[in-house]
Amino acid sequence: DDSQLTTPAHQSDGFVRVRGARENNLRNVSVDVPRDAIVAFTGVSGSGKSSLAFGTIYAEAQRRYFESVAPYARRLIQQGHNPKVELISGLPPAVALQQRRGTASSRSTVGTVTTLSNSVRMLFSRAGTYPEGSSQLDSDSFSPNTAAGACRECHGLGVAHTVSEQSLVPDPSLTIRDGAIAAWPGAWQGKNLRDILTHLGYDIDVPWRKLPKKHRDWILFTEEQPVVEVTPQRDRVAKPYKGRFWSARSYVLHTLADSQSASMRDRVLAFMESGPCRRCSGTGLIPEALAVTFAGRTIAEFNALPLADLADIVRPTSELAQAGTASRTQRSGESNEVAVTITRDLLQRINVLLDLGLGYLALGRGTPTLSPGEMQRLRIATQLRSGLFGVIYVLDEPSAGLHPADAEPLLEVLEQLKSSGNSVFVVEHNMDVVRRADWLVDVGPRAGEGGGEVLYSGPVEGLAGVEASVTRPFLFDAPQPSVPSSRSRSDEPREPAGWVELEGVRQHNLQGLDARFPLGVLTAVTGVSGSGKSTLVGRVLGDVVAASLSTDRTAGEQDGPAEPLHIRAVKGSNTIDRLVTVDQKPIGRTPRSNLATYTGLFDAVRKVFAGTEAAQAKGFGAGRFSFNVAGGRCETCQGEGFVAVELLFLPGSYGPCPECEGSRYNPATLEVEYLGRNVADVLGMTVDLAAEFLAGVPAAARSLKCLQDVGLGYLRLGQPATELSGGEAQRIKLATELQRAQRGHTLYLLDEPTTGLHPADVQLLMAQLHGLVDAGNTVVVVEHEMSVVAAADWVIDLGPSGGDQGGRIMATGSPEDVAQASGSRTAPYLAAALG
Ligand code: ADP
Ligand code: ADP
Ligand code: ZN
Ligand code: ZN
Repeated sequence: DDSQLTTPAHQSDGFVRVRGARENNLRNVSVDVPRDAIVAFTGVSGSGKSSLAFGTIYAEAQRRYFESVAPYARRLIQQGHNPKVELISGLPPAVALQQRRGTASSRSTVGTVTTLSNSVRMLFSRAGTYPEGSSQLDSDSFSPNTAAGACRECHGLGVAHTVSEQSLVPDPSLTIRDGAIAAWPGAWQGKNLRDILTHLGYDIDVPWRKLPKKHRDWILFTEEQPVVEVTPQRDRVAKPYKGRFWSARSYVLHTLADSQSASMRDRVLAFMESGPCRRCSGTGLIPEALAVTFAGRTIAEFNALPLADLADIVRPTSELAQAGTASRTQRSGESNEVAVTITRDLLQRINVLLDLGLGYLALGRGTPTLSPGEMQRLRIATQLRSGLFGVIYVLDEPSAGLHPADAEPLLEVLEQLKSSGNSVFVVEHNMDVVRRADWLVDVGPRAGEGGGEVLYSGPVEGLAGVEASVTRPFLFDAPQPSVPSSRSRSDEPREPAGWVELEGVRQHNLQGLDARFPLGVLTAVTGVSGSGKSTLVGRVLGDVVAASLSTDRTAGEQDGPAEPLHIRAVKGSNTIDRLVTVDQKPIGRTPRSNLATYTGLFDAVRKVFAGTEAAQAKGFGAGRFSFNVAGGRCETCQGEGFVAVELLFLPGSYGPCPECEGSRYNPATLEVEYLGRNVADVLGMTVDLAAEFLAGVPAAARSLKCLQDVGLGYLRLGQPATELSGGEAQRIKLATELQRAQRGHTLYLLDEPTTGLHPADVQLLMAQLHGLVDAGNTVVVVEHEMSVVAAADWVIDLGPSGGDQGGRIMATGSPEDVAQASGSRTAPYLAAALG
C-alpha cells in the first residue's frame, strides 16, 4: 500500500521498500526487503539482480548521501548515477563491496587495505626494541610510503634500476649506425646523436663490440655533454645545426626522471636492469627503521610473513599477564602495556582474516596480485572493525573463489556484520550460501528482456512454490539437476590422448612439484584458496605451453612484470598447437569496444550495410559504418554517443550526445538501411534479436549462435565493454573462441569460469566446454563448484591448505577416485556432488 509510505511510521517497520524500479531491464519492480537481515538476490546472469541490488538500492543510497554533502565537497566524491526508481523508503546508508581488482600500478598492499600496517608500525614505533643509543622513531618512519621512512636511494620503492653495457646495447654485433645503442631514442633524435658522434671522430660503422673499451664506455656512460655544430650526413638539404650529446645512460636517467610521457618512461625502463635496492635490501625502508625489532624480527620480516605465522609471533605478547608501563628511556617496550594492547588488537583482526581462509597472505603482498575474491574478503574483514551500524552492505558474490570448506567461516562473518546491527544484501549463486540467508529475492525468470521481474521475495523455503523460478530446482530438488559430463552422454570415460608432464616446479608455494595434465580431456584443478591452483595452471602450465609454442602470451594478460619461471623439465607439450586463456579480465577498457567489435561480428555487419544499394549509390564503403573513425560517425561525440556534461562541476557526468541523440552516427550514414534498419538500430539489438535479423548473413549468424550458446542472448550488440561483468567478459571470450573454425589441438585454460554464473548458466557453459573436448582439444579449469568438478574427466587436487601449507598434490585421478582420497579437503564435497 503506497499511501503508507509517506508517513514516518514505515521507517521503523524494518523494511526497505522499493517502488517502480526501471533501471536497465527492471520492469517497474516493487519489492519490500527486510533490514537487519541477510538477503540473497538470485537469478540467472543478466536477469537484473545487480540492477536491483547495486543499480537501484545502493545507487539511491549513494545519491542521497551525495546530496547531503556540501556542494564544494561533492566534487571530491566519485558520483554514481541517479537510478530510475519512483520511490525507496526505509533506506539507510549503504556500503558496496564489489569485486574489483586493484589497479596494476597501485602501491597498496594487504597491510594498507586492511589498515593492519598502521598497527604494526605503531607496534614497532612504541614497543619495539631499539639499538643501544638510538632514539625512538615515530610510526611514519616505518613506512616506505612516507618521506620519513622511505629509503633515500630508491625512494621507498625497494627496487633499483641500473644500466649496464648489456642492457643498453642488447646486440653488440650491430654498428652504431644500425642501432647498436638500442636505448637511445629513435627517429631524428637518434640520428642527431649519431651525427654528433661522427663529428667527434667516433666510428659508427664498425660492429659495436669491435670498438675500443674506452670509446664504448664514454659513449654509454659519460656525463659530459659536448655541444657541437653538426653537418647532417647523407642529407644534403639539411642545414648545419648545434647538437648536444647525451650518453646512453644520461639519456635513460633523464627520461626516467623528467619525461611527462609514461610510454617514454616505459620504453627506457626496458633498457635498465631492475633488482632489489642494495641499500635497503628491497624493503624500501631507512636503515634506522630496519634496526628496530619486535620478537626478534624487523618490520620488513613482519611484512613478509604469512598472516598465520604473524599471529603466532604476536600471540605470546598479547597474553602477557603482567605488563610494565612505558618509559622513554627504555630500549625495548616489548613487555609493556602498549605492546599488549596493540598485539591484542592485531591478533583479533588477523583472526578474522584467518577465519576467512586468508592466512597464507602476507601484509606486504601487493593488491594487484590478488584475485578479486581475495580482495573482497579483505574488504569484508576490514568492515567488521569499522564500527559502522545501521548500514546496508551490498556484496557481489562473496563466495567467489572460495572452496566449499571456506564458505562456512564466510557465513559467520556475514552473520557478525548483521548482529552488529547491519543489513547484508548479497548477489549470490552459491546455493549453500543462499540456503542460509534470512530472505530471498529471486529475479527473472530469464535474462535481459526475458527477466527484470521479482518472482519471489520472502523466506527461502517459500521459493519452493514458485514454478517459474529457474533457481527453485537448484535449491530444493534432490538430486540436483546434473551438469553435463562426458559420462552422462556416453558410458565410456574419455581416455587421455597423451600427457603434459611438468617436473620440479618451483613457483610461489610450489616447492619442486611434479604434475601431469592429461590431453584431450577436461581436467578440473581444485583446492582451498592459496593452495596454488592459479600458480600451477595460469602461471606455470600457461607459460610452459606458450614457451613451447614460442609465442608471447596475449598482450595485457599478465599483471605487472613477468617473474622468471622455475621448472626443471617439461615433456609432452609439443602436440599442442595453440594456447587460449579465457579469463575474466575486461574485453576492453573504453566504451569504444563492445560485444560486436570484440567478436568481429561488427565487421560482417558493416559489410552488409556497405553492400546495400543505398550505400553503393552514395559510395559508402564498410569504413563508413564504423563509429571509431571519421567519415560516418557523429563528430560532435566522435562516435561515442555521449558527451561529458560540465555542469555543476560534477565529475564523470555524461549525457547522450545532443547531435546524434546517442546513435553515434551522422544523418547521412543513418539513412542507409538494411531490411528497414540502420546501423545504429542493429547495435541496439540484443543478440537474440540480431540472430533472427541477420540469419541470412553467415559470418554474423555463426558468431551470434555462439553467443547464444554460452547464454549471452540477452546482451545488446553495442553494449560497451565497460558495462560488462567479469563473467560476461569471460563468456564473450569463450564464444569468440567457439566461433573459430576448429583446427588442430588447442589448450584452453579457464580460471573459475563459473564465477557470476547461476547454476542454470553453469550447465550451458559445461556443455560448451565438453564440446571443445569432443572436437579434440584440451580444457583445464580451476574450479570450486563441485558440480563442475564432478563432471570433469580428471581432477588434480592441491592442498592441504593455503600458502606454505599448500602447494602439494593431495589426490589426482577420476572424480570418483579423488572423492575417495583421504587427506583431501575437497573429497567429501566432491563425494556429495557425485551423489
Ligand atoms: P545480473 O546481475 O542478474 O546478472 P544485471 O542487473 O547486471 O543482471 O543486468 C540486467 C540487464 O541489464 C542485462 O540485460 C544487462 O545486459 C543490462 N545492463 C546491465 N548494466 C547495464 C548498463 N550499464 N547499461 C545498459 N544495460 C545494462
Ligand atoms: P590459489 O589459486 O589456489 O588460490 P595461488 O596460486 O593464487 O593459489 O597462490 C598460491 C600461493 O602463492 C599463495 O601463498 C599466494 O599467496 C602465493 N602467490 C600467488 N601469487 C603471488 C604473487 N604474485 N606474488 C607472491 N606470491 C604469490
Ligand atoms: Zn632502497
Ligand atoms: Zn553524437
